[in-house]
Amino acid sequence: MFRNIRWRIAVPYLVLILLVMGGLTAYLSSLVNQAYLAALQRQLLAEARLLAKEAEPWFAAAPPPVGAPLIQSQISQWAALLNARITLIAADGTVLAESFTAPEQIENHLFRAEIQQALQADEGSSIRFSQTVGEEMMYGAVSLNQGGEAVGVLRVGVSLREITAQLNQIRQTLLVVAVITTSIALIIALIIAERTARPIRQLTQVAGRLAAGDLDARLHNINTRDEVRDLALAFNQMGDQLREQITRLADGNDRLRAVLENMADGVLITDNLGQVSLLNAAAQRLLKITEGEVAERGRSFAAIVRHHQLIELWQQARQAQQERIATIELSQQGLFVQMTITPLHSTDPQSYLIILQDLTRIRRLETVRRDFISNISHELRTPLASLRALVETLRDTALDDPPATLRFLDRAETEVDALTQMVQELMDLSSLESGRVPLRVQPVAVSDILLPSIERFTPQATRGQISLVLDLPRGLPQVLADPDRIQQVVRNLIHNALKFTPPGGQITLSATPHANEVRISVQDTGLGISPQDIPRIFERFYKSDRSRQSGGTGLGLAIARHMIQAHGGNIWVKSKEQQGSTFTFTLPVADRE
Ligand code: ADP
Repeated sequence: MFRNIRWRIAVPYLVLILLVMGGLTAYLSSLVNQAYLAALQRQLLAEARLLAKEAEPWFAAAPPPVGAPLIQSQISQWAALLNARITLIAADGTVLAESFTAPEQIENHLFRAEIQQALQADEGSSIRFSQTVGEEMMYGAVSLNQGGEAVGVLRVGVSLREITAQLNQIRQTLLVVAVITTSIALIIALIIAERTARPIRQLTQVAGRLAAGDLDARLHNINTRDEVRDLALAFNQMGDQLREQITRLADGNDRLRAVLENMADGVLITDNLGQVSLLNAAAQRLLKITEGEVAERGRSFAAIVRHHQLIELWQQARQAQQERIATIELSQQGLFVQMTITPLHSTDPQSYLIILQDLTRIRRLETVRRDFISNISHELRTPLASLRALVETLRDTALDDPPATLRFLDRAETEVDALTQMVQELMDLSSLESGRVPLRVQPVAVSDILLPSIERFTPQATRGQISLVLDLPRGLPQVLADPDRIQQVVRNLIHNALKFTPPGGQITLSATPHANEVRISVQDTGLGISPQDIPRIFERFYKSDRSRQSGGTGLGLAIARHMIQAHGGNIWVKSKEQQGSTFTFTLPVADRE
């Protein structure tokens, strides 16, 4: 009960009210009692004094005899008038006359308290139980004097029965009043306690809702104007701020999560024991592990990464408490990753941030670049070496033989042409990659693109016993293209096809309309391309091993792809080894007006 604030306020009030009212009632009733008895005493003494004056003459000569009829009747008469018991007593205590019963039957009264007091001090009074009457009585006694000497005592007595009854009546009334007043005070105390406790109770409820996550919980209907109101207002303000801060934090959190989930680098966080507490989507992708597998294997770093070098690096970083970086090949996943492990000293418990960066592409580019340098040096060395040989031969011997000189010069020219073409291709590619190629795009018929290329290669095809076929449907729409550039692409494709098609094969050029574009294909019946080469042949400088001897820079298809993409089209290849390849590219249809 005392854990409840209403009772904590009400109970002390209740105790106080009960104590005060109880004390007041007791004090008042004793006060009334005393006042009443004091008044009665004064009255009895006054009456006794009055009657004593009347009775004194009876003692003029000597004390009257016991039970003198005249005196007895006078006493009875007074008693009747005053509605009291009246007794006349001689100085030796002998009862001379008595209104209650015959005086002869009454014992000596000398040692009654009131008689003793009256004989010694003229007046006396007492409250005591009367043996004669058999009741609680109050007496007032006054001495009768003759010649300055006490000769007797006149005593007036009244029964206290009635007075006690009256006093009880008063006490009862007082009690009723006290009970009513106490009850009213109690009710008021309870109301005050309830009114004080109610807003606190509401506050507790709302605080509970807030704590449970209901950020909109507020105190409404604040009816008071006191400190509780200030508290409620401050509380609501606190709720607003809390909501604002939590929303801001949640927003920040969401943003952070979005960044983590969408970033290209893999991010993991582990604790000191190697338990992974965070694993973003990129990390899952790089480590080739799914949510389901994580749930299955548990969240230990070793179980998630499954790579001894990664695990060792993590252990090193943990032991040294220093950042560790390493580039590691994940052969299972076919990837190169750079792993950076940073101990996060500011967190508790200590954790480690692991960042996985996918370097596969960069690595491949590096390889391609390396290949290019070795290729280009190789490609350059051969024509340069032959040129040198030609020049030396010319200088040493051939100058005297004009027809031989001409032959040598022709061969030198061919080598220079090859070198020029290579340099031209390199320049084309570099300008294409930097986006500096001005395209003169115009509506052009597909046949205008394909026919010149076919014508150009016909002699070469005939020499190689390869038939060159053009298959164009009727009503083919015009395409939007820079004819020179696209012809260059087509030439390159035919040139490749010729290179890789053995005698007796066929090269077919065809075009088909397809929605808003036209697909142009160069199909050969040649050697085909191995599946592992297919994804790479459009890379710069890429040449399959087989084609190493056959010349070429490995730039042709890279240039073709750039060119087609610059036209808004696409290029791809389908090929089966020993059966042939089909290179297809698309060009947008020119609007037909
Ligand atoms: P290159 O100038 O060396 O021919 P490309 O970029 O044109 O370079 O071709 C790249 C590689 O693609 C070639 O080395 C060859 O391996 C392969 N390739 C291209 N066209 C064909 C084809 N029609 N048949 C078989 N392989 C081809």
